[in-house]
Amino acid sequence: MKIYNTLTKKLEKFIPHEEGVVKLYTCGPTVYDFAHIGNLRTYIFEDILEKSLIFEGYKVSRVMNITDVGHLVGDADSADADDKMSKSAKEKNKSVMEIAEFYTDAFFEDLKKLNIKKPSIVSKATDNIDMYIKIIEVLLSKDIAYQSSNGNIYFDITKANNYYELSGKNAVDLKVAVRDEVSKDDGKRNAFDFGLWFVSSKFENHLLQWDSPWGRGYPGWHIECTGIAINNLGEYLDIHCGAVDNVFPHHTNEIAQSEAYLGHKWCNYWMHGEFLNDLTGKMSKSKGEFLTLNLLIEKGYDPIVYRFFCLNSHYRKQLVFSYEALDKAKDVYNSLKGKIKSLVVNKKDVDNSVLNLYIDKFKDTIGEDLNTANAITLIYDVLKLDASSSTKLEIIKKYDEVLSLNLLSFNSIDIPSEIFDLAEQRKNYKVNHDYNSADMIRNKIREKGYDIKDTRDGYNIIKLGE
Ligand code: AMP
Ligand code: ZN
Repeated sequence: MKIYNTLTKKLEKFIPHEEGVVKLYTCGPTVYDFAHIGNLRTYIFEDILEKSLIFEGYKVSRVMNITDVGHLVGDADSADADDKMSKSAKEKNKSVMEIAEFYTDAFFEDLKKLNIKKPSIVSKATDNIDMYIKIIEVLLSKDIAYQSSNGNIYFDITKANNYYELSGKNAVDLKVAVRDEVSKDDGKRNAFDFGLWFVSSKFENHLLQWDSPWGRGYPGWHIECTGIAINNLGEYLDIHCGAVDNVFPHHTNEIAQSEAYLGHKWCNYWMHGEFLNDLTGKMSKSKGEFLTLNLLIEKGYDPIVYRFFCLNSHYRKQLVFSYEALDKAKDVYNSLKGKIKSLVVNKKDVDNSVLNLYIDKFKDTIGEDLNTANAITLIYDVLKLDASSSTKLEIIKKYDEVLSLNLLSFNSIDIPSEIFDLAEQRKNYKVNHDYNSADMIRNKIREKGYDIKDTRDGYNIIKLGE
């Protein structure tokens, strides 16, 4: 498989640390509100990545964090903004934990509706506090972190190896991009030094606090992913993902602190999905119509149509959402499914050489930095093949293991082999002019919920009620 690596800015052949095994870390949601469909585009890209790796034969261990500690992690953040978890809790008259639990459940419901596989390990930020403290203690002992005059612990970015490698930008370029989260705090040595542990919060009544060797407080945002990744996947990661806004500062800081703590390189491949934009620019939770998956469902869209819409564009290209574009995707999706549905099976005669050839074509396509749009085009090539319907359906069924577009949800390929056997027996009776026995078999087939339609060159099996 070839993937585009943000670290090297190149398309690279993927080679994991351990043969056949992939350790994958994907940054998870901040659970103070519903995910918007832009967030969900990133999780669809990561789902395709995980399933493509599995399709290639890798065993994938995937970890995702749930950010249930309050942070300033929005788009319209300002220094006087409230901590988003606490703000949401106050507004809804719930405890912070109730809010986190409610939106975590809603998030996984969204993933399910989009056929996104739940990561094998999901870990809450608040369940890993001991690990953050352990890492921070090591960073302090190595003199890479320091305590500022206000009591907070910061990471000194001048002690990191190649701090600007991932973003490929220098300090001046990045000044514009940096968030306000820590830049207003006193006592920092460098503008980009980031908080590992805060004892002095600029949020009044910060609700979630823990004891630490430096006093009661709460962890910084970046330390969360480092702690959770190392806790669950060990000292080496193969692939780390997120959307492009994670490159700086989040992933840059994760690399700095993880490698300083471990004393060696941490993760070889970094992948970043581009944004879903609306017609006015980047989609965010804090502006415009709040586009959730449930809103699309209320408007009558099948969530899988949204998945199809995303997969028709490359994950590294910006995608503009509009209802017109979604309607177009819906029409194309329905027409594609119609074409697949019209492939009626009359025999379970799968041509394995064609099947294997087209599985290889799919691997080449999806293995070219997850080219999902070309993988969808390949389905049309399959439909045009001079091959049996069973062969075509079997190929599409394999593709759908990765694309997860419910392409065969009308079941024609799931006709039990017992029905095929009965249909063949009936055909033999007919060939021998034993029409009574042929009719008896046909009744048996009907009792089991199927029927036979005779055609010029044989017969088709159909499922009753479809
Ligand atoms: P959050 O819940 O805000 O932490 O975001 C969850 C994930 O969605 C992160 O990986 C973000 O980088 C990503 N994300 C945020 N906005 C967008 C967008 N408009 N399009 C695609 N991904 C996004
Ligand atoms: Zn993260």
